[in-house]
Amino acid sequence: MQIKSAVFEMSSPDLASCPQSVRPDFAFIGRSNVGKSSLINALTRKKSLAKVSDLPGKTKLINFFLINNTWHLVDLPGYGFAKVTKRQRADFNESVADYLENRENLLCVFVLIDSNLPPQRIDLEFLEWLGGTQTPFVLVFTKADKKSAAFAHSNIALFKKEIAGWWGGELPGIIVTSSETGAGRSEVLEVVAETLKSKNYRTGA
Ligand code: GDP
Repeated sequence: MQIKSAVFEMSSPDLASCPQSVRPDFAFIGRSNVGKSSLINALTRKKSLAKVSDLPGKTKLINFFLINNTWHLVDLPGYGFAKVTKRQRADFNESVADYLENRENLLCVFVLIDSNLPPQRIDLEFLEWLGGTQTPFVLVFTKADKKSAAFAHSNIALFKKEIAGWWGGELPGIIVTSSETGAGRSEVLEVVAETLKSKNYRTGA
């Protein structure tokens, strides 16, 4: 998929004020500093698109970008400031939890994980919760260029070991990315294109 246009559309504090649109959403989430803004900028090839989400007052909002006039790239607030456990509803951000559980036109969540770190509890706890919502998701390992491919892959292997056996033993899709080298960019966009096609949406590119 080519990205022909990417424009900031709006910010929403909660699900009720998200755009009432027939356009499908693809959401991006991860711990703060995981490389989410960099990835969004690399995907759209717009250097400072995701900077909008970093403006004062916007970091806790759900930020919508309209891509190819066809689908929404949704930048969700980072987690990492509160504990999420299995039983507790994900109270890291009620609005985000509500969005992830109840947004009808949300087609897929890209969960970003830093490939330079061993498995982090916060990521595992978030995934455990997300898995229970039935929302489709893909794991996106970030910053694969930072040390070495071998280092990134050993962390990814450890992560896979942690989640082996979850969700009936079915591993989610995994994409390894670097916003520095552009690695994984086309794979992320391919997931978007394939998902749109499978649901009979236009891709706009
Ligand atoms: P966010 O808080 O999740 O939006 O993270 P940022 O995109 O702001 O990135 C956090 C830090 O990681 C910044 O210093 C980035 O330059 C760095 N970073 C992000 N992506 C990459 C990457 O793919 N490779 C490397 N080497 N550094 C990255």
